[in-house]
Amino acid sequence: MISIKSAREIELMVIAGKIVFETHQHLKKLIKPGISLVELDSEAERFILSKGAKPSFKGYDGFPNATCISVNEEVVHGIPSNRKLKLGDIVSIDIGADYKGYHGDSAWTYAVGNIDDEKKYLLEHTKKALYEGIKQVKPGNRIGDIGYAVENYANNHNLGIVRELCGHGVGNKLHEDPDVPNYGNKHTGPILKEGMVIAIEPMLNLGSDDIVIEDNDWTITTLDQRPSAHFEHTVLVTKDGYRILTGE
Ligand code: MG
Ligand code: MG
Repeated sequence: MISIKSAREIELMVIAGKIVFETHQHLKKLIKPGISLVELDSEAERFILSKGAKPSFKGYDGFPNATCISVNEEVVHGIPSNRKLKLGDIVSIDIGADYKGYHGDSAWTYAVGNIDDEKKYLLEHTKKALYEGIKQVKPGNRIGDIGYAVENYANNHNLGIVRELCGHGVGNKLHEDPDVPNYGNKHTGPILKEGMVIAIEPMLNLGSDDIVIEDNDWTITTLDQRPSAHFEHTVLVTKDGYRILTGE
């Protein structure tokens, strides 16, 4: 069942989303060669707690950390380790915050110093694919319109699409109905209504679509070991369009 949020629920989700956005802005300043993933993770946790929220991911299905941090060929669900970032890496940080029982969820892929042109291309166009999806959000449009827009954009830019994972509804649970796939057909799927909140999150690859799950049962990497990017916003369906809750 797809929930429609009350005005009070939306108020809490606006705050949760803002905390996620601010956590990203805080971490962004710390990303540089030599910093370890656990340092970024503990800084995120400290920051989220300082805002009166809790990290949504910690303990979710047993996930051990506050954030998911995935480097280069890692797509999503990377477990923060002592690995240190290197010049030329790309790093995807996925952050969730639970404010008084309501969640915000946003991922962003960052460059560590100067990166090569292929990685720049991947970041630029995965981010644009996210906004192509977001542009479809308005009452009366359907989930398939979002997936179609993301898929079409990715295909036009020759990027692989991770289809095994998708976006989702967000509310008093981190993952709610509906699924929001990064592919689809126009005019299909659940109809968007004012008061719904969804996370749209394209995961696109420089190489093929194919992924593998690593031995830790969490981290997902590309089969061909080529880089992958992940951009995600939590978005509210408004009366005549959308509002991004995890942005400025
Ligand atoms: Mg996320
Ligand atoms: Mg998500």
